[in-house]
Amino acid sequence: MSKNIPITVAYGDGIGPEIMEATLNIITSAGANLDIETIEVGEQVYLRGNMAGIDPSAWDSLKRTRIFLKAPITTPQGGGYKSLNVATRKTLGLYANVRPCISYHPFVSTKHPVMDLVIVRENEEDLYAGIEHRQTQDVFQCLKLITRPGSEKIIRYAFEYALSNNRKKVTCFVKDNIMKLTDGLFHQIFRDIAVDYPEIENEVWIVDIGAAKMANTPENFDVIVMENLYGDILSDVAAQITGSVGLAGSANIGANYSMFEAIHGSAPRRAGQNLANPSGLLLGAVMMLNHIGQIDVATNVHNAWLKTLEDGIHTYDIFKENISKQKVGTKEFAKAVIERVGEKPKTLKEVKYKAIEKREARVSAGKYKIQRKDLVGVDVFLDWKNGSAEDLGEILKKSSTNHLNLSFMSNRGVKVWPSGNPETFCTDHWRCRFVQTKTDEALNNSHVIELLESINNSGFDFIKTEHLYNFDGEPGYSKAH
Ligand code: NAD
Repeated sequence: MSKNIPITVAYGDGIGPEIMEATLNIITSAGANLDIETIEVGEQVYLRGNMAGIDPSAWDSLKRTRIFLKAPITTPQGGGYKSLNVATRKTLGLYANVRPCISYHPFVSTKHPVMDLVIVRENEEDLYAGIEHRQTQDVFQCLKLITRPGSEKIIRYAFEYALSNNRKKVTCFVKDNIMKLTDGLFHQIFRDIAVDYPEIENEVWIVDIGAAKMANTPENFDVIVMENLYGDILSDVAAQITGSVGLAGSANIGANYSMFEAIHGSAPRRAGQNLANPSGLLLGAVMMLNHIGQIDVATNVHNAWLKTLEDGIHTYDIFKENISKQKVGTKEFAKAVIERVGEKPKTLKEVKYKAIEKREARVSAGKYKIQRKDLVGVDVFLDWKNGSAEDLGEILKKSSTNHLNLSFMSNRGVKVWPSGNPETFCTDHWRCRFVQTKTDEALNNSHVIELLESINNSGFDFIKTEHLYNFDGEPGYSKAH
């Protein structure tokens, strides 16, 4: 008998406790060897005044076991509460969110009988960095951060996942026709890393048409890697079109920690009524069992679950008169799965998990070289509402210095000075680009400070600056529209 593996369990909120009880019942009945430590996270912790939704002592358990099986939680309405999910992913460095979305035709009603795709979502960056500012009366901003190491890690993870799980293709969704630098970086890194995996097909779609194709012909996709926001939205879409959002589990993987959960939320309206489908969390737990090496238990549980679906024993969310045989509650569904441990599906594809051989990820050495970084200008953002673009341009150009000269101004990204269109709608948030005048002298921060002093002395309210750098001569900033 293999030794027990310590894991941390949180029962969560809403339907959480019911689906967790069902899940633990099934996997322990099937022979999972676990030492379970329970922690409290979520609504009650928030309402006790802990804005993070998790007590400091709970981190001790997570740091000890490094494996977290988590039921969905409710974040209370109102300001100030921090997302526990985002905090856990970031604190534990869970950079990869893996979400298999599979249809179970003809046993679960779906418009897509052939669908077996996995979304690999970047989990730590993008607009989820949580860096937001209100800068003027009218303008609010959220910073989108895409990093080279973050993108390399998730994209390589997607290819390695494809290799280990016998998947044939990795698709990347980006929006680099608009976000040329951030999504452009993600796209370029995808292209670079794909070269290391010649046996795996690769393709790139702009996210909007890619999403439309995924929703219409999901059978054409295999593994899809995405930045955080696109992955968050589209994995719910993908799970829902398999038949129910209640059917998909997810793994959040980092170098040292991992967390397993259902992709759906706490469905408070269904709570406490023995109604919820525990399948999403159960499949999350199957991913956990594979992760901790309890491969046989994972295989047995997954096959017993498939057989239960095949036998038409369905919770309310997937129950259909003409397909299903018996409508059951959460507890009865769990009991039916337990009764089928050892059985295999007859029509649905049986799963046969294998231990994933440990090997070094393929890394191409020295692809990225440090580039020369030269300051060439600065965007100064002003809060100003005293007239037209023409008025502002004429006054502000007088603040130019010997080193930095006002080149243009834009409002919400549209160039409004010089020679703007007077009909362009302008807010109180102006991006004013000052560029280097003397190219024989290297520009530095003292020149920027000198410019800001000049602008300040003219009575302007500058609210932020962004430096303009060239990297090996290539602009590291967007041009005006
Ligand atoms: P939800 O996923 O909880 O529910 C959406 C719909 O799907 C509901 O109509 C519900 O009936 C159905 N549904 C979801 N899971 C089901 C299941 N297992 N069985 C049967 N039906 C199921 O989304 P929501 O209503 O937008 O969010 C409710 C709460 O969940 C919010 O507080 C939200 O913050 C939280 N949430 C938590 C997580 C998480 O902890 N990982 C994720 C998403 C949302």
